[in-house]
This record gives sequence, C-alpha cells and structure tokens, in this order.
Amino acid sequence: MGSYRVTLIPGDGIGPEVSEATKAVLDATGVTIEWDEQPAGMNAMETHGDVLPEVTLDSIRANGIGLKGPLTTPIGTGFRSVNVALRQALGLYANLRPGKTIKGVQAPFEDIDLVVVRENLEGMYSGVEFDAGTSEAATVIGAINANNSKKVDPSAAISIKVITPEGVSRIVRFAFEYARANKRKKVTIVHKANIMKFTDGLFLRIAQEIAAEYPDIESNDRIIDNMCMQLMQKPEEYDVLVMANLYGDIVSDLVAGMVGGLGVAPSGNIGLKASVFEPIHGSAPSHAGKNEANPTAMILSGAMMLRHLGEIDAGERVENAVAGVIADGDRVTYDLREDRDPSKAATTTEMTKAIIDRL
Ligand code: NAD
Repeated sequence: MGSYRVTLIPGDGIGPEVSEATKAVLDATGVTIEWDEQPAGMNAMETHGDVLPEVTLDSIRANGIGLKGPLTTPIGTGFRSVNVALRQALGLYANLRPGKTIKGVQAPFEDIDLVVVRENLEGMYSGVEFDAGTSEAATVIGAINANNSKKVDPSAAISIKVITPEGVSRIVRFAFEYARANKRKKVTIVHKANIMKFTDGLFLRIAQEIAAEYPDIESNDRIIDNMCMQLMQKPEEYDVLVMANLYGDIVSDLVAGMVGGLGVAPSGNIGLKASVFEPIHGSAPSHAGKNEANPTAMILSGAMMLRHLGEIDAGERVENAVAGVIADGDRVTYDLREDRDPSKAATTTEMTKAIIDRL
C-alpha cells in the first residue's frame, strides 16, 4: 500500500466536520496519507485576506492531489466562485460525477449506475461576457453585425461559448480512458449539434473521431434535451455520459437527484498536473458546528480519490462500508432517515465510527 501527501481544504460551515470524518475513515483503511491542511473560503478570507490563497494553490500543485470541503463564497468580494477559480487556476478540465444508487437512500429511481463527465473549463462558462449597455458589448455586437447576416440587437448582453478542438479532445479522451479503466461498456456523447452547428458541431465531430479510436467501448450520441427525457425513461441504457460545461452542470445535478441528492454525491475535478476531489453539496451553514451533517458525500469523494491514486481496494472498501451503514439504517444522520428526526439520528461522528467499524 502506498503513502501519499494530500492537500486537505477543510472549508467552511459543515466542511471541517465532514473533513474530520473523511480523514478518520481514509486513515482507517491503512493507506498512509500525510494531510497537508490548507485554507480556502471564508476562513481563509479572515486569516489570509484571500478566499483562495496562493499557498493553498501551491500546496495542491506540489502534492498533485487535493481533497476539499465545501466553501462559502462570501458575498460582495468580487469573487464569483472560489470553486470556479480553483478549477481555472489548476487547469482541472474534467469534472467527474458518478451517480450510483445506494440502497437505503430515499431516491426516485432504483439501480442507477451512471457517470457524468463534464468539461470544466470552457463552453458557456468560459467567463467571456459583456454586460448589456456597455461600450464593450457595443463593440462586440458591432463586430458581429458587420460579419453576420443575422443581426444582434444592440441592447443585448453577450456570453461567449468557447469550444476548442483541444478542449473537446481532452475531455472526450478522458471519458473513454475512464470507461476503459473502470470496465464501463458505453460512452454517450451529449450535444446540441443540430442547432449549434459550429460549437456543438465541433464537439460532436471530434468526439466521434476519438470514439473511433476506442473500438472496445461502445459509443453513441444524444441531443441534450432528448438525453434528459431518456434518463427519466430508460436510464439503464446509459453508462458514461460526456458533455460540455453547461450541459454537464445541469445533467450531473439531475443524475445526483435521481440517486438521492446532495448528501451522498461525490465528485472529482481532474487535471493534467493535479486533481481535487469534493462533495457537491455546499457549506450548509444552518448545520455547522452541530455534529449533525451527513459525511457521506465527502467520504465518497475520498474513496474516489483513493481510486484515482490507484488504491482501488481501499476505495472499494470505503464505498462498501458506507453502503453497508446506510443499508442498515440505524447509525445514519438525520437526512438519511425517513422521519428526518434529529433526536433519533446518529451524529456525524457516530456515523463515521459506524463506517470505520465496517471497513
Ligand atoms: P448547501 O448544499 O449548503 O445546502 C442545501 C441544503 O442541503 C440545505 O438544506 C443543507 O442543510 C442541506 N445539506 C447540504 N449538505 C448537507 C450534508 N452534508 N448533510 C446534511 N444536510 C446537508 O447549498 P446552499 O445552501 O445553496 O449553499 C450554502 C453555501 O455553500 C453558499 O455559500 C454556497 O456558495 C456554498 N456552496 C459551495 C459549494 C462548494 O464548495 N462546492 C457548492 C454549493 C454551494
């Protein structure tokens, strides 16, 4: 078993509690992890005057791997989102969002086993935007109208959708490599190339070229709206789904909802030089400091991290232990109980102990 140095960002709100829980579970697997704790979010604003201090980024760059709790984005600091800034700064181009049914979690679907691979850096979230009525917007609209028979109204706000051949090829290749490494059978390319002929057209064309390089993995494509309907009607026909940023943002939450929502959904942000794993939920301020938050999503993010590090057996043991505790149902946090009664529920630390007992 290997030994690793991992940057840990405990985060804000319930972050420190679910981070402690995750550290305890991962340490109990026998994998040796040296935790390099670093600040980000509201806490970091207070201690370092910056929601994303350079020392934290340097630590992730040096270690190549990070585990992150939820961050509160302070309102009025000019920061749109610390999470987006972190992904951009470290080039974390792939957002990996598995959605797998855990027996015992209340969910509208059964036997779901899907993985959404979302492009994380470009598409509609390129950050290139022009506010309505500004001189910059007027310049852009002027240039568009001089070069296009379809005219843009001068009052418009503009967001630029950026799809690059390199961006498409690396995310689609990631999806196929992931499918191969994880013994998945099929990759579905999701797009809207029938309407957005150039941006999504490029996405589809390059994705299909790359698919041809992986004859061992079945592949097909679906238009985004039809994809959403089919996920509701016949999710069993799908396996790994790869798509551009905005579509992936929406579909990955749809899939999280299919398997029971925020409390149990992990994720990974993968880059060429570093990767950061995190629960998808926020800092849930109303539960902070009460030892009642559900640690599952962060613990499962830790399990994804173990798999990413090549510690497949340890990752699987953590996932099985979590599933076992939730299936038993008597040592789980309030949100996993049908009555949602905090007085009968396990605390964060009790549920964590139950998971460790089952490893
Ligand atoms: P949230 O995910 O914090 O909370 C939504 C609901 O789910 C709340 O009712 C909350 O109590 C509950 N919840 C979430 N996680 C839970 C857990 N582990 N156990 C039990 N209950 C849980 O979303 P929000 O309220 O919209 O956002 C709060 C803050 O978190 C905001 O500052 C937001 O910017 C931030 N946020 C951060 C991330 C991130 O760091 N990745 C993601 C989303 C929101």
